[in-house]
Amino acid sequence: MILLLFGPPGCGKGTQAVFLAERFHIPAISTGEMFRAEVKAGTELGRTASAIMAAGGLITDEITNAIVASRISQPDCASGFLLDGYPRTVPQAQYFGRLLRERGLPEPVVLHIDVNEALLVARLTSRRQCPACGRIYNLLSQPPRVAGRCDVDGAELIARADDQEATIRQRLKAYHELTGPILQWYGESVVHKVDGGRAPDLVAKDIECAVLEATVPSAT
Ligand code: AMP
Repeated sequence: MILLLFGPPGCGKGTQAVFLAERFHIPAISTGEMFRAEVKAGTELGRTASAIMAAGGLITDEITNAIVASRISQPDCASGFLLDGYPRTVPQAQYFGRLLRERGLPEPVVLHIDVNEALLVARLTSRRQCPACGRIYNLLSQPPRVAGRCDVDGAELIARADDQEATIRQRLKAYHELTGPILQWYGESVVHKVDGGRAPDLVAKDIECAVLEATVPSAT
């Protein structure tokens, strides 16, 4: 089974990726994390990626496609995998389709976690982080035990610069501009849209049903 997970910042994609990986015993592969690992390891690719990522740009399709093609050849991907953050452009989606056909792999299940913008902004502006240990809180869904203080070390919680409302709206706009054409390319009949505005376990149930429906042959 091959799962592609799409969703705007703040939609709970990370949580759902972990759930899906555990539920279906497949690795969750994030291209962003792969690039960050390359940067950390100081490889040649990492040096190229570092400047592009710092400027908020995209790594070239050629490099990204190659890193994905290599990663999904690993033994842990033999019975399937989940991709988060890829494809990010229509040419990447086209390349990926060709790659799957060449390797005789099944069509991907395309999942789109949809959340309305007002709710995303409310969620993201409620996010707080401990500057000392990095722990993330949410004033709406996961507040600290003592208002404004980290449960672990008592440090004063801060809002991250990229969680300010104007920045969030900018990030959401960029997300829609980038992802809209990819979802359109796959087509409405292929994309499984899930309402991400609910509790994470309800969203997970819906996603699980969509995956099972798409991958288990029907009895008829
Ligand atoms: P993410 O963690 O998914 O937000 O990715 C962090 C950064 O990695 C992005 O801002 C891009 O610079 C780069 N990146 C991740 N995935 C891709 C991709 N599919 N194509 C191009 N660049 C990517």
